[in-house]
Amino acid sequence: MKIGLVGLGKIAVDQHIPAIRNNPRLELVAGCSPRSEVEGLDVYRSLDEMLQAHPEIEAVAICTPPQVRQAIAEAAIAAGRHVFLEKPPAATLGEGEALQALAEARGVTVLAGWHSRFAPGVEPARAWMASRSIESIRIEWRENVRQWHPGQRWIFEPGGMGVFDPGINALSIVTRLLGGGVVVQGAELRVPSNCNEPIQADLRMKGGHGTPIEAHFDFLQEGVQTWSIYVAAAGGETLALHMGGKVMEVNGKVVLDEPEREYPRMYEHFARLIAAHRSDLDMSPLRAVADARLVGKHVSVEPFVE
Ligand code: NAP
Repeated sequence: MKIGLVGLGKIAVDQHIPAIRNNPRLELVAGCSPRSEVEGLDVYRSLDEMLQAHPEIEAVAICTPPQVRQAIAEAAIAAGRHVFLEKPPAATLGEGEALQALAEARGVTVLAGWHSRFAPGVEPARAWMASRSIESIRIEWRENVRQWHPGQRWIFEPGGMGVFDPGINALSIVTRLLGGGVVVQGAELRVPSNCNEPIQADLRMKGGHGTPIEAHFDFLQEGVQTWSIYVAAAGGETLALHMGGKVMEVNGKVVLDEPEREYPRMYEHFARLIAAHRSDLDMSPLRAVADARLVGKHVSVEPFVE
């Protein structure tokens, strides 16, 4: 499959380019980005220019910030290309639903790239949970925005999601573990006075069978960084996913610790969807973020200094 990349920033360079180049069934034909260049890649300044120069491109991966993703995806679908959307797949639920309808009408595949769902511990954790009665789930997703997102001002601008940019990865795992959406019951969103998006958020939710879920998202974590999900089951059994799902612990013992292959696995999933004429545009993680904004208390906190 011949692929074009849109938005040549951190995630395109760190993950998409190696994942495509290391898969013999995929070919990276070209990229486009307003300013960036990538050595060894034929780069254009817009999707239009790229598709005109390379009409053989069959699919595009859109690795821009979320605010501009929908218009680009719409143009790519209208041009008959399959679309891999970086997470979050859209800035709003309405945008996501519109893309789904367009893709169906045009007969192309759209994938919402919830990469954390492809972490090695997620499916084993789902299997463990399926045979147990789950009593509670706690998410601790704490990282240093200065370390992981240097210079990415878009993250605190409207639609950039702030701390939900990483937090939505945890929500994508939990919705996969539970096999469906969650109900947000309450939230506190702390927004720096010079930003539009939260830098910390605490959410109170429940799963399909009423399972209580709490989430703590923090963008100001210094020292040890935490991407963990703790599950408590009946009878005192516990399961934990650490390092974003790379490590799984059962009853306090590490039972799985595998190298992560999230992007290679996502591209394999994308190719399978295309072959099967299907899409995978699950909006449940984005819905949880949208609901937290609707019911959450918004608290103004001290300005963010990069
Ligand atoms: P980034 O480093 O800021 O890169 C974004 C890129 O998008 C920039 O290179 C920019 O181009 C390009 N861009 C902006 N507007 C564009 C437009 N209208 N058309 C084409 N390209 C445009 O951000 P990132 O970290 O790669 O994140 C991008 C997305 O990936 C976000 O949704 C994020 O949540 C997701 N993601 C990021 C990570 C991560 O570790 N960073 C992990 C997983 C997912 P120029 O450079 O040419 O100006």
